[in-house]
Amino acid sequence: MTVESRLLLAARMSLSYRCRDRRPTQSQFRSVGISFASVELSDSISITVLNRLFVRVSEVMRQPMEDGVVTIARARETLSFPAKFMLIAARNPCPCGYYGDATRPCSCAEATVTRYQKRLSGPILDRIDMHLAIPRVDFEQLTGDDPGESSTAVRARVTSARERQWQRFVEVHGITSNAEMRVPEVRTFCELEASGAALVRNAVERLGLSARAYHRVLRVARTIADLAGEYQIQRMHLAEAIQYQPRGPER
Ligand SMILES: [Zn+2]
Repeated sequence: MTVESRLLLAARMSLSYRCRDRRPTQSQFRSVGISFASVELSDSISITVLNRLFVRVSEVMRQPMEDGVVTIARARETLSFPAKFMLIAARNPCPCGYYGDATRPCSCAEATVTRYQKRLSGPILDRIDMHLAIPRVDFEQLTGDDPGESSTAVRARVTSARERQWQRFVEVHGITSNAEMRVPEVRTFCELEASGAALVRNAVERLGLSARAYHRVLRVARTIADLAGEYQIQRMHLAEAIQYQPRGPER
């Protein structure tokens, strides 16, 4: 961790001192107003960093997801706290959990599925870099002998990709990772070859991607290329990044 990262973590820890001695409950995180929600959010994010608490994703997370800062407004003063965090969220496709399942039919009405999926707004979904549908695992796969790639190998690849990013941004103030790139850095560090640019242009038109989604595709593709140890973002890296864009009724 860098000195700056350590200071940010210490600030978050001090902010969540109220909850550190006991396991927080869902009722402690209920929104009752925007400023109250901000306090709740600060704690949630802090605790999430420390204890990996599973919190309810809500609209009040839009600002910190965008700016990496939580602002708490009170009658006499306004305070801002650092709130950069990695959000990992999961949800069912519908209330019964089987919408889209290949073997078991969903028992929900179509309108119920749509209403359920719209509980997360488009702007929130537009701020999540990668969306993955996780289908049912086959019995053969579940009981097979293939152990898959070891965590040690994955860790080595991630560490190496992180090092590439630190070196890339060594002269860029306030940025240490691809996820933090603003538009000027995306233009500088995500240059595309002609075939890659054509692929992205096609995806933007076909999927109706927003400007934010376009830059997100480039940032994710940059990370996929880093994980592969490649200097140049290639067509296959872009194709994988495009796959992680949300699609279906929720878009
Ligand atoms: Zn269902």
